[in-house]
Amino acid sequence: MRALALLYHDVVEGGDWDASGFPDPVSATYKLERHDFERHLAAASAVAARRGTVHDLLEGTLDPPPVLLTFDDGGASAYGCIADMLERAGWRGHFFITTDYLGTPGFVGRAQVRELAERGHVIGTHSCSHPTRMARCSWDRLIAEWSRSAETLADVLGAPVRVASVPGGAFSRRVAAAAAAAGLAALFTSEPTVRCRVVDGCLVVGRYVLRRGAPAAVAAALASGALSARLRQLCLWNLKKVAKAVGGDLYPTLSRLVHGHTRSDSARATRA
Ligand SMILES: [Zn+2]
Repeated sequence: MRALALLYHDVVEGGDWDASGFPDPVSATYKLERHDFERHLAAASAVAARRGTVHDLLEGTLDPPPVLLTFDDGGASAYGCIADMLERAGWRGHFFITTDYLGTPGFVGRAQVRELAERGHVIGTHSCSHPTRMARCSWDRLIAEWSRSAETLADVLGAPVRVASVPGGAFSRRVAAAAAAAGLAALFTSEPTVRCRVVDGCLVVGRYVLRRGAPAAVAAALASGALSARLRQLCLWNLKKVAKAVGGDLYPTLSRLVHGHTRSDSARATRA
């Protein structure tokens, strides 16, 4: 099973990075300016074979492979900006909500989440507390993060919530197994792959992350399934894993080798 899923976070205006989502410098590197996201959306719309949702994957509607637009963290811009833009371009998005932050400054509230679902967007959980290193959480903590957050959202929507995304990109088979045990049917990761797999009955879907500064052409290349763009992200992902394994400040150096330019923020990027 193949899916082209793109991962975004918040969309803000005028460099007001703290207006939506987590207000810290690392999170800011994952947020796009509105005019940049507009270009990304137009570029992806021009090449996407099909504007899809996770329902296509769960129902087996896979030809051509759907393009999925996903948004992590549950920042206020999901309601105030992103959903309108998506709808104007004929898309429905996936909004993954960090439930401990529901209704707090910079994040969507319960009524907004309900309206997003009514407008056809997919609502999923992004855990309760957004653990920095999900893969290192105990089994009980994983179960609590998935099940409590899904219950909170089910209470908001009046319907079960069966979709999730992993905070911080820290994925492991155990994280997916816990999601399955908590009753989730699909789990989005930050692993750059188009191949979906199943862990204990839970569909695990990779995603390609688009951060601040990523050209719209990259979004288009990924949405069209271009192999070169996908391999580039896979290469970076693997370099990141190596850098984490050896520790220290190796990642910026490795990233420079791939990007061909300086990305000083890369080393500090742990939240996704
Ligand atoms: Zn996140």
